[in-house]
Parts: sequence; structure tokens; C-alpha cells
Amino acid sequence: MPLPIKKSLLSLLVMAALLPFDSPARGAESTRGTPVAFGLLPDGTAVEQYTLTNASGLVGKVITYGGIITALEVPDRSGKMGDIVLGCDKLADYLRPTPYFGALVGRVGNRIARGRFTLGGKDYTLAVNNGPNHLHGGLRGFDKVVWQARYLEKPDGPALELRYHSRNGEEGYPGNLDVTVLYQLSNANELRIDYQAVSDQATPINLTNHTYWNLAGRGSILDEVVTLHARHYTPVDATLIPTGAIASVAGTPMDFTRPKPIGRDLGLLDNQPQGYDHNFVLDRAGPGLQPAAEVYDPPSGRVLEVLTDQPGVQFYTGNFLDGTIRGKRGIVYAQHDALCLETQHYPDALHHPNFPSIVLPAGQVYHSTTVYRFSTRP
Ligand code: BGC
Repeated sequence: MPLPIKKSLLSLLVMAALLPFDSPARGAESTRGTPVAFGLLPDGTAVEQYTLTNASGLVGKVITYGGIITALEVPDRSGKMGDIVLGCDKLADYLRPTPYFGALVGRVGNRIARGRFTLGGKDYTLAVNNGPNHLHGGLRGFDKVVWQARYLEKPDGPALELRYHSRNGEEGYPGNLDVTVLYQLSNANELRIDYQAVSDQATPINLTNHTYWNLAGRGSILDEVVTLHARHYTPVDATLIPTGAIASVAGTPMDFTRPKPIGRDLGLLDNQPQGYDHNFVLDRAGPGLQPAAEVYDPPSGRVLEVLTDQPGVQFYTGNFLDGTIRGKRGIVYAQHDALCLETQHYPDALHHPNFPSIVLPAGQVYHSTTVYRFSTRP
């Protein structure tokens, strides 16, 4: 069978050439890049936590389990540092069901209707783990696996490279997929996430990060002011599967084309539990990184800008947080205590030929970048 061998050799070569983001610089193994133990999985696998500190003192913490961003400390307008992401204090809490706090999501983020799809004439069946649908990669998606980590001291800021090999058939998906994610906390006060992947068979892929942001550090986000560079969104049915329409936001509660407090129109939404949980179609002016969203917290002055090369963003306002999770520092997370901006391709793209495709052909390299930029306003 010369063809498959050739194919896998080719993809190995492509991987070897493209997947390492960088080689560790001299001194990268210094104490700065040394992880600390974060706990053990039930099978004894060790989970570690890495800390990235940039030149201005911004701090990001990442664990090898799920590639979870467990903390992100940025200054407010008076320079006071605060942790602006939700999460848990210890590994045991991340091992209980959590709503994907800070995690890498894949192989396919968001929903696939009924957990079924057909690719190359073959039918595939996935776990149905969200009502009648498949969500965020299945029962053990990329948020629940241990990633191989490598700390990199780069001239423009520290970074953590995470790698995971997802075998053919894992969670029902076709193809051996090698994924590399680079988190960098740049000296320009940005968290940059670069995703790369290559598979030996055609496979669907839609990688994202599921950080829950709260620019005040705690409490409701309904007074945070959001702008979405999106004049359209994808309406959904009661199970959050797109109808296939690309609808205008004009004159609807979905209109965030100008800065608007999240809570202003939220009461007009008719979904339950009430809140935003929609994919917005980004107004792209061309390829590459483009502004997607901005969040401003008037009391603290903190600003978060999101730039991405993806066509969509799921704007989710923590509707399912219900006060049953006690997170970091003992804080109880209530409904609307955080928001997510999951940059992505549109949900259920496999069933909508009018949506940009999420199929990665065999041997081709998947690339995607999202930047979260932090600043303050007087
Ligand atoms: C989904 C929500 C879901 C949340 C946590 C979001 O991406 O759109 O419906 O509750 O993730 O799983």
C-alpha cells in the first residue's frame, strides 16, 4: 500500500517542518519557565502549572490538563492587578464537571447536530453530550486531556507550547491529528493563541479557547460594555443549532455594532436560561487578524480587545452558571458572572454548505490565531 505510507510520510515531514513554533532559547529552562505540580489525575498522571510573566508584570497561568488558563492578572486604571478569568483553585475541582473554564476546546468546538456527520462518503457518530447534540469535542475533548508542554522565552514575551496527539477514532473523529497550541503573553500586553494541526485523513476541526472573562474580577458582567464587529449572526433553534440563516443584527438585541452594556437588551432575548449564547458572523475586511470584539469595564477601566482570523465568535454570557460552582478564592459563580468570546467557525458548519468549511484535508496544516489585548481607559 504505497499511497498511505507516502501520505503519512508526507504529513510527518510537514509536521516536523511546521509544528515546532520555536526552539527553546538559551536559558529557557531557568526557574522562570519551571512548572509547579498542580496535582495528579486518578491514573497517576502528573499535571503541572506554568506561569508566564511579561515585561510589564502581567501574569498568565496555564495547566497541562486541558491547556486550561487558570489565571490572568492584568492592571486596572490605577495599576492594581486583578485576576480577570474564572477558574478553580485545585485540580480536583477541574476534574468535576466544569463548563470548560479556560480550556482548549476541540477537535470541534461548539455543536454538531445529533452528533452525526458524513465525510468522504462515510458516516460518523459522535457522543451526544448536550441535549440531542454533540458539544465541544465530546466526552473527553481536548479540554480533558494532558498536553505536552514546553516553555519558551521569546524576545517579545514568554510563551508556552502545548502539543497533543489525538488518535484516529478518538471521540469518533477520523484521522490521527497532531495539534500544537502556542500561548504567548506578549510584552505588548496581549495573550496570543496560535493553533496548528495536521491530520493523516480529512477531518473536521474547529479549535478555540473557552476562557470566562470578568474584567472586574468578580460579580455580574451585565454592566460591562461590549462591541462586536459583526453585522450578522447565525440564528439557532431551541437546541442551539443554527437554522442556516445569516441574519442581520439591526434592530434586534443582537446589535453590538456600537458599544452597549451587555444587560441593556438581554431581557428581550427569548432563550432559556436567558442570555447571549450566539455565534456572530464577523465583518471581515480581508484575511488575517481583524478586530472581532471589545469589552470595557467602566469601574476598573479595564479593556479587552479580541482580534482573530476566524470567521465567527460565540458570545456567551455564562447563562448556565447557576451558583453551584465555587471557584477560585471561594467565589460562587452566579448566572452572568462572566462572558466568553470563543473565536471559531460557525456551529454545525458540517451540515450547512453555506457556512465556511471546517474540514481539514489530509496532510494540510490548519492555522488559526486569536489575540486578546489588555489595556485600560482613564
Ligand atoms: C456554549 C454554551 C455552553 C458553554 C459551556 C458555550 O460555547 O455555546 O451553550 O453552555 O459553552 O459549555
